[in-house]
Amino acid sequence: MASSHPTSLVWLRDDLRLDDNPALSEAAEFGLPLTVVYVLDEASDGIRPLGGATRWWLHHSLAALAAALEANGSCLVLRRGPAAEAIKDLATETSATHLFWNRRYGLPERTVDAAIKEWAGNNGVQASSYQANLLFEPWTVRTGAGGPYKVFTPFWRSCLAGGEVREPLEPPRQLPSPATGESGGLPKSEDLHSWDLLPHSPDWSGGLADTWEPGEEGAGRRLDDFLDGPAEDYGTGRNVPGVEGTSRLSPHLRFGEVSPFRVWREIRRRFPHKIPADVGIFRSELGWREFCWHLLYTNPELATRNYRPEFDRFQWQSLNRSELAAWQQGRTGYPFVDAGMRQLWQTGWMHNRVRMAAASFLVKNLLADWRIGEEWFWDTLVDADAASNPANWQWVAGSGADASPYYRIFNPVTQSKKFDSAGGYLRRFVPELADLDGKAIHEPWKAGDVPGYPDPLVGLPESRERALEAYARLKD
Ligand SMILES: Cc1cc2nc3c(=O)[nH]c(=O)nc-3n(C[C@H](O)[C@H](O)[C@H](O)COP(=O)(O)OP(=O)(O)OC[C@H]3O[C@@H](n4cnc5c(N)ncnc54)[C@H](O)[C@@H]3O)c2cc1C
Repeated sequence: MASSHPTSLVWLRDDLRLDDNPALSEAAEFGLPLTVVYVLDEASDGIRPLGGATRWWLHHSLAALAAALEANGSCLVLRRGPAAEAIKDLATETSATHLFWNRRYGLPERTVDAAIKEWAGNNGVQASSYQANLLFEPWTVRTGAGGPYKVFTPFWRSCLAGGEVREPLEPPRQLPSPATGESGGLPKSEDLHSWDLLPHSPDWSGGLADTWEPGEEGAGRRLDDFLDGPAEDYGTGRNVPGVEGTSRLSPHLRFGEVSPFRVWREIRRRFPHKIPADVGIFRSELGWREFCWHLLYTNPELATRNYRPEFDRFQWQSLNRSELAAWQQGRTGYPFVDAGMRQLWQTGWMHNRVRMAAASFLVKNLLADWRIGEEWFWDTLVDADAASNPANWQWVAGSGADASPYYRIFNPVTQSKKFDSAGGYLRRFVPELADLDGKAIHEPWKAGDVPGYPDPLVGLPESRERALEAYARLKD
């Protein structure tokens, strides 16, 4: 029998943290017995199934969250979707009268949430939602004409003109003890391992485990290490893939293990009088994240449809299997691209400068449809998110908002010489090239045969010319 006493239910999604979690804080304040649930939703209409790397991250993030909740006298209930069914069932089992969550911004997710809200309204359950994962909710940022922004700079200017963002909330001091379920004990929870989120046969996750610490504590450490160290040199450091010049907060932000409000606040706390220019650049990168969500909110099909419809006529070339495999496995013969693609495979992350070069190589030098690359990144990035991944791919392809101009074709050799001049990054991820000196390593084909390393997949001048012609045809 379900308990007849009123209880609260907090549904956590991409906000796997205790700090600055308005839904959790409100529910804790409310004081009713509290169930905290995460639903693995692979069954609701339109919700994009996670890729392999994000599944790995999710497993560890949920384990960390469960431990943190238990340390605070609560626990994490795990259920499988479809979310609407799982939430209704759990709310009924625990006699929940109040339901709390933090808002999400993709259309399929909003549709699920709206249906649950409607069900709650019809069943005497009060559903409340909060702003937690974006500093500026997409519908609040509008052009003078009332439409969505299509260009980053005025978008970000308009965000900042709205005044200071709110202060982050401290983690709840105490969490109410969990509600009881049907049997009078704790509500039933699935076993995290039974979700099979971790890879096996083969287990390719060793490099991810060596690189990352999923969970709120790991996120906090990253934030501190970055703000106490590389942040003040971010303007230069962010372009150099061989050094830790960026925050590497992206997967933590992706899963909401750190709140953007906390990041914002920590910047202010460390630099109370004047934010150094380099730190200001870092803050505007957070703005790009907001912009990507703004784009997804107004273009729900961002991962599958060209933002600029004229690109529907673009003649992408189909790659054969070995060409695609060469790009995916980092065997294009261009060390900068290959180092990036191998960094991605080994660690689940790639430096932004190299992402741009590797994506440009696929889309422009190989003329492959950007969606092919987007899907590969979706599967392999630990920070793959529904907004930033497609928005950035479309940016590189030129089909997106505020996109890179069509004639901008990253030259992987020039990029390599400029941003990894001594070749340290290349040597780390492409060990076949380790014996080449700092000059030869950027163009190994000039050094003759390098055992184990392939010849260039395409010539740079010819493939560039072919891309420029293909893009020029769009304007006819
Ligand atoms: C083809 C391509 C695909 C990408 N896919 C993703 C993705 O799936 N998820 C993702 O978070 N980022 C994506 N990015 C953006 C960017 O590469 C990463 O956010 C960044 O490399 C993450 O490293 P960091 O946390 O050290 O970034 P930092 O330089 O420390 O930046 C701080 C934060 O700002 C945000 N940010 C920075 N640059 C961007 C950007 N261009 N667009 C959106 N947000 C940004 C991220 O949340 C990041 O954690 C992609 C870029 C390209 C070119």
